Amino acid sequence: MIGRRPAAWHVATVAEVRPETATARRIVLDVPTWPGNDAGAHVDIRLSAPDGYQATRSYSLASSGGEHRIVLAVDEVPTGEVSPYLVHDLQVGDRVEVHGPLGAFFVWRPGPEPRPVQLIAGGSGVVPLYAMAAARAVSTDASPFRLLYSARSPDDVFFREELDALGPDGPRIDYVYTRRTPPDWPVPPGRITPAVLAERTFAAQERPAVFVCGPTPFVEAIAAALVDAGHDPADVRTERFGGA
Ligand SMILES: Cc1cc2nc3c(=O)[nH]c(=O)nc-3n(C[C@H](O)[C@H](O)[C@H](O)COP(=O)(O)OP(=O)(O)OC[C@H]3O[C@@H](n4cnc5c(N)ncnc54)[C@H](O)[C@@H]3O)c2cc1C
Repeated sequence: MIGRRPAAWHVATVAEVRPETATARRIVLDVPTWPGNDAGAHVDIRLSAPDGYQATRSYSLASSGGEHRIVLAVDEVPTGEVSPYLVHDLQVGDRVEVHGPLGAFFVWRPGPEPRPVQLIAGGSGVVPLYAMAAARAVSTDASPFRLLYSARSPDDVFFREELDALGPDGPRIDYVYTRRTPPDWPVPPGRITPAVLAERTFAAQERPAVFVCGPTPFVEAIAAALVDAGHDPADVRTERFGGA
């Protein structure tokens, strides 16, 4: 177990930036004082302008463990204040302030007893869920993982190479595309429906621990459908990224 450390402010230096998708960017931060974090945790990032103006937003961590490098993946909200700056303007060597690790409830920790884990992501909501899948792959925990991942199109999938590279130790992955599918995809674009949940997730009777993350309307719709399908609300953990 890594987390349950008191959250604190840390100074971070941007170590690497790279495109994640056409609208998102992966950002690696070097944080020498980072205490480590559990998979699923998030941080608050504070930006300060030369005139003293500050803006703070939350971002999930794609990384976990005791490393002093933490990884974010930020999708641009074009009308937003902070995400366009992070996606287009932040440069290697820039400094930002990081508060964390945060979010002791929405984390997965390896344990001695295997228990099915169902991950359900909408868009950039895959970030903390990827961290959980990657943590499972390097642990001795034998819990079976599944990931149901809703993305706009194949080009909008975050961490595709890394998810594929988890191989047999990684989750079984089902993609749902809302706007454009790959050629020959068996179903037209569409949202996750109760029927999709029934086909492509662990059944309520298997008592999976469920983690749902993404835009607020997505999370609320999925959580309600899971409870309707018989999941105990206490088994369904949610993280809302905002948006209407
Ligand atoms: C715990 C937590 C973890 C998060 N992790 C991530 C992450 O890993 N990657 C990531 O890209 N974002 C993440 N977010 C969302 C992030 O905090 C910001 O809300 C987002 O980047 C938009 O910030 P902004 O300043 O650009 O937009 P703002 O200026 O704050 O908002 C502008 C407009 O966009 C709407 N909006 C705000 N957030 C969203 C959203 N997520 N989707 C659609 N519309 C939105 C607002 O309602 C508003 O109308 C997370 C949020 C939370 C609470």
